[in-house]
Amino acid sequence: MKLEFKGTRGYIEARTDRHRMHASCRVSSGRGAIIIDVGEDWVEQAPDLEADAILLTHAHPDHAWGLKGGAPCAVYATDETWEALHRFPIEDRKVIVPGAPRRVAGFTIEAFTVEHSTRAPAVGYRVSAGGRAFFYAPDLVYIHERARALGGAVAYVGDGATVARPMVRKRGESLIGHAPVQTQLTWCRKEGVPLAVFTHCGSQIVAGEEEAVVERIMGMANERGVDVIVAYDGMVLDL
Ligand SMILES: [Zn+2]
Ligand SMILES: [Zn+2]
Repeated sequence: MKLEFKGTRGYIEARTDRHRMHASCRVSSGRGAIIIDVGEDWVEQAPDLEADAILLTHAHPDHAWGLKGGAPCAVYATDETWEALHRFPIEDRKVIVPGAPRRVAGFTIEAFTVEHSTRAPAVGYRVSAGGRAFFYAPDLVYIHERARALGGAVAYVGDGATVARPMVRKRGESLIGHAPVQTQLTWCRKEGVPLAVFTHCGSQIVAGEEEAVVERIMGMANERGVDVIVAYDGMVLDL
């Protein structure tokens, strides 16, 4: 599988050459291509996106609003995400149900619910092809079925919104916000995932001294025996 990180910026004002566009990832294999998330930054390019299918993690502007003028292919999302996007003129709407894997463009795709937002319930996707799997969740506090989502995966692609300071609030029984990179690296260690990649970068990475922040993240990963990459726009990764 080839992952192309088309965008790696979170829902922040700051942008740099390395993190210019909202987090979006194109995944291709010999059999097809999918794009996960098309945020608002992509709205002008959306008609020309080349993929067999688009998968949306949730309905927040930085993940889905690039499709407010429509989509050039089939779009997969949960019922809750479709409800939030009911005004978008997307013709080919496919409903994805967490816990029910399905074949999309030659990949096996399974959605896992993650805590992140009560208004825009989010999922992460486990994507498999050719006997290899990775998990992609750009916005999350918590994965409900973490062991099943990450077990046996060759890589975890996660939320770079915050490095060590939790950005988590409680609303009723739900947690909303972002788990720190540090916590996500611990999940990788616990589930035996050898590589963590961070996208959806927050202001510490984008507006700060990126080299120093990346060094700090590498130290955290090292302590946990996990390899780590902070993704940038245009980065290509072969898994
Ligand atoms: Zn986001
Ligand atoms: Zn979000």
